[in-house]
Amino acid sequence: MHPTLAEDRARLAELLQSVHGLASRELAGLDDRPAWQPRLAPVPEPLPAEGSGAQGALARFAEQWAPGFSGSAGPRYLGFVTGGATPASIAADWLTSVYDQNAGGGGGSSAAALERQTLTWLRELFGLGAAHSGAFVTGSTMSNTVGLAVAREWLGEQRNVSVSEDGTAALGPVTVLSGAPHSSIGKAASVLGFGRAAVRRTPLLPGNREAVDVAALARELEGLDGRPAIVVANLGTVDTVDFDDLRAIAALKDRYGFWLHADAAFGAFAALLPSHAHLTDGLDAADSVCVDLHKWLNVPYDSAVVFTRRQDLQARVFHNSSPYLGLPALPDPDFLHLTPENSRRLRALTAWFSLVAYGRDGHREIVARNTALAVGLGDALAEVPHLRLLAPVRLNVVCFTLAGSPTPQAVQAAVQAVAATGEAFVTPTSYRGVPALRAAFSNWRTTRADMERALAAITEATAPKM
Ligand SMILES: *Cc1c(COP(=O)(O)O)cnc(C)c1O
Repeated sequence: MHPTLAEDRARLAELLQSVHGLASRELAGLDDRPAWQPRLAPVPEPLPAEGSGAQGALARFAEQWAPGFSGSAGPRYLGFVTGGATPASIAADWLTSVYDQNAGGGGGSSAAALERQTLTWLRELFGLGAAHSGAFVTGSTMSNTVGLAVAREWLGEQRNVSVSEDGTAALGPVTVLSGAPHSSIGKAASVLGFGRAAVRRTPLLPGNREAVDVAALARELEGLDGRPAIVVANLGTVDTVDFDDLRAIAALKDRYGFWLHADAAFGAFAALLPSHAHLTDGLDAADSVCVDLHKWLNVPYDSAVVFTRRQDLQARVFHNSSPYLGLPALPDPDFLHLTPENSRRLRALTAWFSLVAYGRDGHREIVARNTALAVGLGDALAEVPHLRLLAPVRLNVVCFTLAGSPTPQAVQAAVQAVAATGEAFVTPTSYRGVPALRAAFSNWRTTRADMERALAAITEATAPKM
């Protein structure tokens, strides 16, 4: 063994103490770490020939790199939809590396069983029935991709072709219909061979809505004349968190024979709130469902789940069997037969820990508090003369803009000005053609005081200069 490695092995406990020290200090300071850091990276260095040991690496990291890391896990980072990491999930993330299980196969470890247990709990949390089987993946982009890959196989099955064997060409063109799809749907369409142009935006409901107009959707499906179609329903659009009427969409399935995929990346968490649970009605009727966990479950990156009603087709797409072993036995084959990855981190452990530590009630409290803070910020911003709310706050996102007719450049400058305060971070968007800003609440740490600090920073940084 290399002497430096041997030395590290001998002093592993000490090393972990040092890491513990740094981690504790960083987490204690997280509430006040600037939400945004200018991109200052140290000058590039040559590959070390001689190592400096883990303590040396730790010291170098703490000095050179850690200061440039943002406070994105902190309470006033309101950009995108960025959850933090609960104490239990951080502990679990450390242990995931300590045990270093490969949850791809079941062989000789209970790790895959822990993943299945966690998936059963999550299914219950989001109101899905036993017909849905799940798997952990890295994020909602991958979850959407897996859902659409199973859809593709199903479309083939309807036409007596096997896409997984013979390729997408055997199926012919596929149309993906969606009202306000997340950008990852285009990415999935590109990866899966449909092409980004296959994603067609269906008209939205009139009024200030981002939910699909189901009557218009039916007309689009009619116009396809039986050609292969996937409908992506959106539960929680990123700009204004609107929800498609899943039951009404599902009711069209018999007539038009499409696969219904639900992108509920963060909207699924509405199911935890008695006041909002109706928004997720019909989730169980979807053929596949995407839910992110590194957003509103507040586990560290990266973690999401995909649920499908056709585990058999999922295994046909993703199985990793050698020809002489044949297809994996169903139900519940090893996860390497269900996901893009073969070798897989035990990603479920962070969710397992957080659910055991805080339960349904603890997680409901996070969702309820974030939602109340978003409503509070929306109410307050609506009163600021130089700002304008663009949509009602339906859940955890506030979509607003500058008064008048702001240009994209003015909005970008406002985003920068807010970020430069270090107090809060919001992201730019375009809502119905209007350049806008959005503030999304999904971090377990965020308190009313944080919301008020963010409000002050946004109000001051966007004020017209005299
Ligand atoms: C965030 C998000 C995604 C993509 O998720 P990643 O975890 O970033 O891959 C997809 N759909 C919706 C609605 C999202 O909010």
